[in-house]
Amino acid sequence: MRTTSRIELDKSAVESNINFLREQFGKDVRISSVVKSNAYGHGFEQFVPILKDLGLDHFSVFSTDEALEVYKVTGAQADICVMGFVPDEDMEWVVRNGIEFYVFEIDRLLEAMAVAGKLKTKAKIHLEVETGMNRTGLQRNHLKQAVKYLKNHAGLFEIKGLCTHYAGAESIANYVRVHRQIRAFNSIVRSLRRQGIYPDYCHTACSAAAMIYPKTRMDMVRIGIMQYGFWPGKETLLDYLHKNNLRTDPLKRVITWKSDIMSIKDVREGEFVSYGMSYLAQENKRIAIIPVGYYHGYTRSLSNQGRVLINGQVAQVIGLVNMNMLIADITLIPGATIGDEVILIGSHGDVTISVASFGEFSDQLNYELLTRLPSNIERHVIN
Ligand SMILES: *Cc1c(COP(=O)(O)O)cnc(C)c1O
Repeated sequence: MRTTSRIELDKSAVESNINFLREQFGKDVRISSVVKSNAYGHGFEQFVPILKDLGLDHFSVFSTDEALEVYKVTGAQADICVMGFVPDEDMEWVVRNGIEFYVFEIDRLLEAMAVAGKLKTKAKIHLEVETGMNRTGLQRNHLKQAVKYLKNHAGLFEIKGLCTHYAGAESIANYVRVHRQIRAFNSIVRSLRRQGIYPDYCHTACSAAAMIYPKTRMDMVRIGIMQYGFWPGKETLLDYLHKNNLRTDPLKRVITWKSDIMSIKDVREGEFVSYGMSYLAQENKRIAIIPVGYYHGYTRSLSNQGRVLINGQVAQVIGLVNMNMLIADITLIPGATIGDEVILIGSHGDVTISVASFGEFSDQLNYELLTRLPSNIERHVIN
């Protein structure tokens, strides 16, 4: 069965974004492609093969269930790293398949040690250290303990990485905090070296940090949002344009989200549209009903706020976004008929509905809107 909307991924846009990122970071910095949350809503199954074709060979995900989805695509041909959740019962699968994972609790190190011992292989770990975000990451005393275990059981571990995460590199307001974190991280690197611990990769940067603070790039960067063609925030884009004396956004949006008009009707002046009284027709209106609601990832906060494109013209979302439907005002698009394509995110000619424009309307970040796109919407790769 067809789903009520569909997502198209533009392969050449991904290629262009990856080329841009490679140019920025140079060939000595490895790129870990962050594909957590179903590749930011783009779809593991469709997105990961594109990256694999482009030669990316390190993928970061949040949890083991996501690692499995990526593994189904890449097999052992790429490195997969779990940055967050590894339940104990999955540790054996993780270690056996050479899946890398962050260690931010001593218990996890012990669990990994037990499993690696049992399987007579090495667990591939990244030591995540606390540098000031105060989320996950080993604090000083635990790191000390971890180092002891690592030295005493060197045969059970491959120390693939040493890492941390910044508490909001996309905002200049966090400048001082980020700099403190950079200093804290570098001091930990030196201290570990003195103790004879040499991780393969030191990595700290997400998209924003990699762009704004080049010294955070180190051996590897973890790039999520930018590979999909979005900036972590407006500040990051402006900073880039300003530093390079450019005017146009070098990234290309990969995703297009489309549906079709399901029904059309005329509404008289003075009538309310949809549930309740949130939209009053101030004049005679023609409206289009579109089979996409908050269940399908079109957030309720776009009620009376969102815009869609129909036949190349912008139509306003009116009334509340329902669970399965939304309503658009097509009074000024008289040619619109049932079955016409509706672009929820994407372009027609030079008119674009971007996620960022939603973001402003709806006070949501690109990140949230994208990752709420349900995994069961049809996804197609366009070459
Ligand atoms: C999500 C995530 C990233 C990627 O962030 P972007 O802003 O999308 O580039 C990097 N590192 C960690 C630890 C993350 O959780």
